[in-house]
Amino acid sequence: MIAKKEIDRILSGYDRKDLKVAALCSHSALQLFYGARLEGLKTVGICKKKNRARYDAFPLAKPGEYVFVDRYEDAGEVAEKLAEENAIFIPHGSAVEYIGEKIGSMRLPFFGNRRVLLWEADRRKMLEWLGEAGCSMPESYAPGRIRKPSIVKFPGARGGRGYFVVSSQEEFEAKSGAMLKAGAITESDVRNAVIQEYLTGVRVYPHYFYTPFAKDGFKCAEGRLEMLGLDKRMESNVDEIYRPMSVGLKVEPSYTVVGNSPVIMRESLLDDVLEVGKRVVESSFRLFGGIYGPFCVEMIIDENFRLKVFEVSARIVAGTNIYPRGSQYSCYIFGDEGGMGTGRRIAREIKVAAQKNALQKIVY
Ligand code: AMP
Repeated sequence: MIAKKEIDRILSGYDRKDLKVAALCSHSALQLFYGARLEGLKTVGICKKKNRARYDAFPLAKPGEYVFVDRYEDAGEVAEKLAEENAIFIPHGSAVEYIGEKIGSMRLPFFGNRRVLLWEADRRKMLEWLGEAGCSMPESYAPGRIRKPSIVKFPGARGGRGYFVVSSQEEFEAKSGAMLKAGAITESDVRNAVIQEYLTGVRVYPHYFYTPFAKDGFKCAEGRLEMLGLDKRMESNVDEIYRPMSVGLKVEPSYTVVGNSPVIMRESLLDDVLEVGKRVVESSFRLFGGIYGPFCVEMIIDENFRLKVFEVSARIVAGTNIYPRGSQYSCYIFGDEGGMGTGRRIAREIKVAAQKNALQKIVY
């Protein structure tokens, strides 16, 4: 991973009055460019030629300029050019997925602490982080000790793709054996699978934002934690599995995310949800120098209002795309300013940091 000192050196050459927001044209790019535009920042989209029409279709959310690459994996090739233009890169889920390991060495300042991407990418490290934060989590088992309905997640699988549910060791061996035979996974995937107790309840995905620059509101670490929104993922086919079942079809549940919908919670649940966000931030400081900006902790709440967390996304999540102009929660923090979506919030944070000459704090 590129050294923080090296990024600080690049950043020290930036013109703080002429910053650009850069993002890969995918995931939450429309929201990021739109939000940056509302804050008066310039934008640049790293794009594949065939994706350009998707952005040109939305004139207020397309990037101010494009740089084209053949493959997103090669985004690092344009890093130098972007750094010459004072660009700050916003890592989102597609950037993490498509650029892969090369993301760590990109010679371009990233919004947030780049180290979180390592903790997020390795599921065992991520669970260690949630555990250190003192979050209540589903039981995890090593292969060989499965006794109740459990969900199996292989390394690298993301967004629910390829997950499956088993109730016993025999079922695990049969299903993973078939996947091995088909070449879909390796022996090492089987050894390193995360096998979690299958949780029941309502899933919620809070959109948190940590800022060191504000001292009012919900105090957290040296600043405050903001809850900017809440969504629920729509996963196919599990979320509508009653439909095939209603006509007598037997289907294996799958968990691939296909979209997101807004959620509002019982107000009293906010206490615990805010507390989880705060613990995750404070633990990140103890473990790896902190998490700045947006993140999401995936959780399930049961009928006794007990909350268990099973994953953290340490960056902007696609569920925030529901609220480019703010949500049913962000309006209580940012009032009548015209709506504070997560994309806009990131641009605002960059502006505030630049004004305070403190970009180094929130950029790595
Ligand atoms: P993840 O990749 O961990 O975000 O999981 C993708 C989806 O799988 C989640 O949105 C849930 O619907 C489901 N899921 C993950 N872990 C569990 C669990 N322990 N119990 C029940 N469902 C889960």
